[in-house]
Amino acid sequence: MTKNEMKRLTDEYIASHEEDILADISSLVSVPSVRSAAAAGEPFGPACAEAAEKACEMLGGMGFSPVNHENYAIDCDLTGADAESGTPYLGILAHLDVVAPGDGWTKTDPYTVLREGDMIWGRGVSDDKGPAVAAMWALRAVKERLGAPLRTARLILGCSEETGGEDLEYYFKKRPVPETVFTPDADYPLINCEKGRYAPVFSREYSEEENLALDRTILSFRAGVAANAVPGKAECVLKGVTAGECREKAELLTELYGVGFSFSGGEDGGTLNITASGRSAHASLPETGANALTALLALVSMLPLDPSGLSRALGGLSGVFPSGACLGEGAGIVCSDESGPLTASLDILRVGGGKVEGVCDLRIPARADTRAVKAKLDGRLKLAGFSLSDAQPTPPHLVPADSPIVSTLLKIYSEYTGKTAEPGSTGGGTYVHDIENGVAFGCQMPGEETNMHGPDEFQRISTLVLSAKMFAAAIIEMCF
Ligand SMILES: [Zn+2]
Repeated sequence: MTKNEMKRLTDEYIASHEEDILADISSLVSVPSVRSAAAAGEPFGPACAEAAEKACEMLGGMGFSPVNHENYAIDCDLTGADAESGTPYLGILAHLDVVAPGDGWTKTDPYTVLREGDMIWGRGVSDDKGPAVAAMWALRAVKERLGAPLRTARLILGCSEETGGEDLEYYFKKRPVPETVFTPDADYPLINCEKGRYAPVFSREYSEEENLALDRTILSFRAGVAANAVPGKAECVLKGVTAGECREKAELLTELYGVGFSFSGGEDGGTLNITASGRSAHASLPETGANALTALLALVSMLPLDPSGLSRALGGLSGVFPSGACLGEGAGIVCSDESGPLTASLDILRVGGGKVEGVCDLRIPARADTRAVKAKLDGRLKLAGFSLSDAQPTPPHLVPADSPIVSTLLKIYSEYTGKTAEPGSTGGGTYVHDIENGVAFGCQMPGEETNMHGPDEFQRISTLVLSAKMFAAAIIEMCF
């Protein structure tokens, strides 16, 4: 049988089991597998353990022999010649945990799948229970229609992807890392290149007493909630400054950088409150946001405050992270490669009580010299009077574009979608960031939104069915 004939058989098997695939997705989505406090034998809480158990039952019902690794992860082999040697050739990695549903669901209860036409809604339908079930059915189609492969494929389903990846740390102590791995936990066509990341905390102390004795000074500054999010809002309180002194500069900043300012107080010697409103964004794509923190910092740095260690430090910081610049221009670390440009975003800043503390988030191109980037940024922050935490950069991840897993999966994607495909990159990390020869493959189609992590998460049934067919094709291409 040719590989194309084999694919026709698995395609047909998957197409005729669409209803069963949807029933399995609904069943997994009904388990609210958000991480909670650990209990005996349940490292990520009872609901994540229940999802692991349920997935094992499903695979058992398909005639496989899955293994539950103490509720950290489960795995399941499509047996083949190298199953006994312990190292499978192909790993397919997905996850069973979900992020909390949050507010704002309008279509359905998050844990009850709603189906309308080609769409399903529910927490996890796209991230990552729908793809996990598509992978289960790919394995089953191969087993039912083709029999034993030459090399084996192993499905691995982790239980803490959303909360730090301790699942894989534990799992790979017990099981070998497959020679090649793909994870349907990101975007099509494929991601083979992930930037490194450096997100240090830096701080500086100042004398609150001396600061309060000044006539014109900053009393507090507050912006940012997470190291990996560009802040959409920033607030500060100034002494000895009026709104009138700020307005012209503020208008200029608004015009240049899209961040608005509002003022209250500041009359008759009272304190002046300034609020900056921009647009938040993920720190791996800072250019899609408007950083309220750096705009407000720029405004404060332009005001004639009394000279002090504090005002100099904030001025220096504004020089390292100028408003509107997200390519590391201020720190002299601009660089780029096929994974995209370096991005730099100042995401948290607190001033008050005698201490300035901040966090920034750098995404570093895969081929850049990460240590040199760190040294340069650290040096610039030290010049501004800050000391740094001992945070180290996360190294980048790169699987060569001409490696078998990349070329095979891209070929399959083109075959099944009729579209040409180039490998892609991300500034965020995927589930395979630490796995050699690991790439992300699916299940979000280019340009298609799925509200992943948000309310009303949805996915197209046709995308999931097509994904199952492509995963089966990947097993055929790589294991037969
Ligand atoms: Zn995910």
